[in-house]
Amino acid sequence: MKRRLVVIGAGLGGLSLALRASSQGWNVTVVERHHSPGGKMNRYCDSGFVFDTGPSLITLPQIFFELFDSCQVKRDHLHFRRLQPLTLYVYPDGTRIPYPGTLPDVATVLERFEPDGGRGFWHLMSTGARLFELSWRTFFRTVPTELPSRTELRDLLGSLRWFPFRNAWGNYARTVERYVHSEYLRRIFLRYPTYVGSSPYRSPATLLVIPYLEFAHGGWYPDGGLYRIVETIVAALRERNVSLLTGVSVEQILHHNGQVTGVRLANGEMIPADVVAYNGDASTADALLGRPLRWRRLPERSMSGVVFLVGLKRRLPEDIHHHTIVFSSDYQREFRELVEDAVFPTEPTVYLNVTSKTDTTVAPPGGETLFIMANAPARTDIPWAEMTQQLWERVAGVLRRAGVELDERDIATLSAWTPQRFEQEYGMPGGSIYGFASHSYRTTFLRPAMRDRFVKGVYYVGGSTHPGGGTPMVILSSKLAFNLIQRYEMAS
Ligand SMILES: Cc1cc2nc3c(=O)[nH]c(=O)nc-3n(C[C@H](O)[C@H](O)[C@H](O)COP(=O)(O)OP(=O)(O)OC[C@H]3O[C@@H](n4cnc5c(N)ncnc54)[C@H](O)[C@@H]3O)c2cc1C
Repeated sequence: MKRRLVVIGAGLGGLSLALRASSQGWNVTVVERHHSPGGKMNRYCDSGFVFDTGPSLITLPQIFFELFDSCQVKRDHLHFRRLQPLTLYVYPDGTRIPYPGTLPDVATVLERFEPDGGRGFWHLMSTGARLFELSWRTFFRTVPTELPSRTELRDLLGSLRWFPFRNAWGNYARTVERYVHSEYLRRIFLRYPTYVGSSPYRSPATLLVIPYLEFAHGGWYPDGGLYRIVETIVAALRERNVSLLTGVSVEQILHHNGQVTGVRLANGEMIPADVVAYNGDASTADALLGRPLRWRRLPERSMSGVVFLVGLKRRLPEDIHHHTIVFSSDYQREFRELVEDAVFPTEPTVYLNVTSKTDTTVAPPGGETLFIMANAPARTDIPWAEMTQQLWERVAGVLRRAGVELDERDIATLSAWTPQRFEQEYGMPGGSIYGFASHSYRTTFLRPAMRDRFVKGVYYVGGSTHPGGGTPMVILSSKLAFNLIQRYEMAS
């Protein structure tokens, strides 16, 4: 008889786990409380504008391809476009740096801004490269909370020669400031820990892996929008007869004598299972399992965000890129407000993503599709809804500096997202986007375990667990989870 897997949540992690398992002959059911699958990687359409509501930048597309190829899913229709230069950085004094582009372009930027021609820059990049090699061989392949298998142990020991002894173990911001002299380039480096919802001033230097992987492997956009990836997985699941139930939540994970037996839905229906994988925030699973919270003290959550999806009836200036960042005038103050004071910054750094700059299918003719985001603290005890106008004014004020005027008369559609809405929509405490913050080695490397210690047959998948948040990591998480399921469940 086929083994039965129930996946709770149709986020990217849940969907890709369902794809891996169904491709190996498992009988799979996915239950999603929303009406559309995708979780944070979702889509919103209005008045001819098509928005990706969550991720906008794909790094490491090879991880997506590995998922599709290993499950024999056709992907010819998915056209990933490498954006070059990837991001336009706009500074408070009006300086503009398009980065990173080709190697000669980067060399020109370094000559212009770094007195030593960029020796420190290359030093940090090579540290990032060694960290990436090390992670690729270890952290991205094995789960640190599990005993390694014999092959994994061999690989781990073999990888020690990649161990980057120097520079990788200090504080992220201090390491950057030691090696990079120009304030302009420092800003670019300091931005990367925010890719995992963390502060550069509190993160470990191991996050240097992020600027390296973006520099070396590029930033990508799939034509038609990122939701095309979700659609491709969902179509493949249907071909494999996976039952995808949407608009209904799982209320309880059922277990008996320490063994999982299935799930109970909000409508009372029971679905029996040999294995259950939870794709929601792993730290919230105790309630579903009907037991007291196991965390004595929860680590700090990663940041949330304030997002405005704007359909504009006119085009933006030519020099605004697909990805544009407009920096605040005081980055340290911004992160002090975000992390220490846990408030929305007085003057936020604003990320502007204009997909219609590269993809004409996502906006009506003459229009522009804008995803505008600023970091926000992960807390819901602030009256976010009442503050929306104030948040808009702060964000629009910063964008004005880059020549982006957002006049109400030009706006065809606007949808505002605050941490409150992120929490409601995705069930992430405080609206936190990436699980626990990477503010220590422990929360960076020892995230919530992927296999439940007390109930056999319960697993965790997605950005709150290993190896971490962000779309490529979440797909790797489904690979790690499925490896564990095969290791522990096929033997029994
Ligand atoms: C605004 C924003 C910008 C981002 N930008 C980027 C980016 O540029 N690049 C990048 O790589 N990543 C980015 N990310 C992060 C990326 O989207 C996430 O890391 C990834 O999509 C998370 O996938 P997941 O599998 O962890 O599940 P999630 O997307 O968190 O989905 C979990 C699903 O489980 C469902 N669920 C939970 N509990 C239950 C229950 N009891 N019953 C039924 N269903 C349940 C939820 O409804 C949800 O749909 C961004 C995220 C956001 C929100």
